[in-house]
Amino acid sequence: SPLLKLDSVRKTYTSGSVEVHAVHHVSLSVMPGELVALMGPSGCGKSTLLSISGGLLRPDSGTVTVGGLSLYDLVGARFHEHRRRSVGFVFQDFNLMRTLTAVENVMLVDELDGMSRKQARQRALAALRSVGLDGVADRYPSELSGGQQQRVAIARALTGCPRLVLADEPTGALDSTNTRSVLGLLAEIVAAGGACVVATHDPEVAAAAHRVVQMLDGALTEDARPAVVGEAL
Ligand code: ADP
Ligand code: ADP
Repeated sequence: SPLLKLDSVRKTYTSGSVEVHAVHHVSLSVMPGELVALMGPSGCGKSTLLSISGGLLRPDSGTVTVGGLSLYDLVGARFHEHRRRSVGFVFQDFNLMRTLTAVENVMLVDELDGMSRKQARQRALAALRSVGLDGVADRYPSELSGGQQQRVAIARALTGCPRLVLADEPTGALDSTNTRSVLGLLAEIVAAGGACVVATHDPEVAAAAHRVVQMLDGALTEDARPAVVGEAL
């Protein structure tokens, strides 16, 4: 069964008297083991669709099912818990706190969740190890390269071991060596039975994906899928 299922999802932004139909009736299913590239021109609705998929933005209508549960039908603590356990989010600009070290950035999620500092640090170090960064755990973001910063952001997204990883232009700020290393990590997530949806303009990311979903003016226009999952990697 799909890890992510969107059914007729719609979102309109209203600012003053202006309405922007950012996402119209989008339906999409993403299966375990799939790396999906979401492509399309700037402003076509990719970030909005990812935010809706990851529980960051409630759609105006439609349903979002993550790991078999209808995300926005959950309330209060159950909503937050399911989102935290099921979804990891990676942003283009890394979204790291500049005043915290790499390991502290990764620990933050668990600490906010009430975990002890000691246990959170152990889990964060394990996550940093999984992205090859345990050697720089005590450095601040400004002391890391862009690729290292993005790997810290990925470690943070992976701390709760989510099966679904959503990434918004994760390689936009990276050179091709770092892009490849980030793609390698995303490929590992899907190889382990997870799924990943990546909004991207990067042809290198599209080439590594199992499916390329094209978006234009808030709608999906094309869904190309190779015959065999895994073939493209
Ligand atoms: P993309 O990620 O493809 O660049 P977005 O989802 O960011 O597209 O934006 C889709 C459309 O919605 C754009 O026209 C954008 O300007 C508009 N938009 C995005 N966020 C907001 C917001 N918070 N308020 C109003 N309009 C928004
Ligand atoms: P991306 O490059 O990832 O598509 P954007 O630069 O479009 O992101 O948007 C960055 C942030 O600004 C997002 O949180 C988005 O919701 C918000 N935003 C985008 N367009 C508008 C807009 N027209 N009015 C208000 N907020 C917007």
